[in-house]
Amino acid sequence: MKDYVVKATAYDGEVRAIALRATEMVKEACKRQGTWPTASAALGRTMMGGALMASMLKGKDKLTVRIQGNGPIGEIIVDAHASGATRGTVTNPHVSPELNSQGKLDVARVVGNEGTLSVVKDIGMKEPFTGSVPIVSGEIGDDFTYYFANSEQTPSSVGVGVLVNPDESVLAAGGFVIQLLPGAKEATITEIERRIGETPPISKLVEQGKTPEEIITGLLGEENVKFLETKPVFFECTCSKERIGNAIISLGPKEIEAMITEDAGAETVCHFCNESYSFIETELEALLEEAESKR
Ligand code: ZN
Repeated sequence: MKDYVVKATAYDGEVRAIALRATEMVKEACKRQGTWPTASAALGRTMMGGALMASMLKGKDKLTVRIQGNGPIGEIIVDAHASGATRGTVTNPHVSPELNSQGKLDVARVVGNEGTLSVVKDIGMKEPFTGSVPIVSGEIGDDFTYYFANSEQTPSSVGVGVLVNPDESVLAAGGFVIQLLPGAKEATITEIERRIGETPPISKLVEQGKTPEEIITGLLGEENVKFLETKPVFFECTCSKERIGNAIISLGPKEIEAMITEDAGAETVCHFCNESYSFIETELEALLEEAESKR
């Protein structure tokens, strides 16, 4: 089944709803990062939060989500484009705490309960939009909920979930965001809160084969929802030899000279997709020339 995101409006425009199925996207990212189950859940949840948020952007717009907590996973970074292209990385993919008191992967433990969730949106303006909130639980869904309420002044409910197979591969991943728009009635809010409380975990719904549309109608009631559009979501890394070359240039001539004289070449691995790029001596000399011309 293909991954995609669906956008809807509900309750006569009082509510915005977006849901996605992202099993393949998360599976691919986790495979490339070599994450153990709890890190897979943390990375997958963050990627889906980023992808949900990016689905609200247009054209070539993109955003970066950074979760810097005090837990053993270190930093989680996700880049998500309006096109649906999403990638992510974690500092330490090999974390394996015990299950939490509900018998679930203890994402909060690996992320930590202190730190920040920040978002940088590049929406074609001179300065990017940036927002940052403290981590509230480390469960990530709650943290995105808090981000929307406090940094974007939009009361929201975010659910993101990843189920992991016994062989540690990703079995199912999905997410949603429900947002109250200005003028939402008290009765609507009460009903939505009740419905969200009665909804099973999102990753379970995806595992059962529910589509993003069915997830939204389950959350909001079929009669209340109007679907607007669907878009693909997928893993894609934007790295290339040219970009890595530019990164090497930015290290400056001294560093590049050392690569040439000490190692007679350079090998770099992309943190996001684990693709490796090698530069032979003559290529490094060309980069060195460029670095020198930029001094
Ligand atoms: Zn890459």
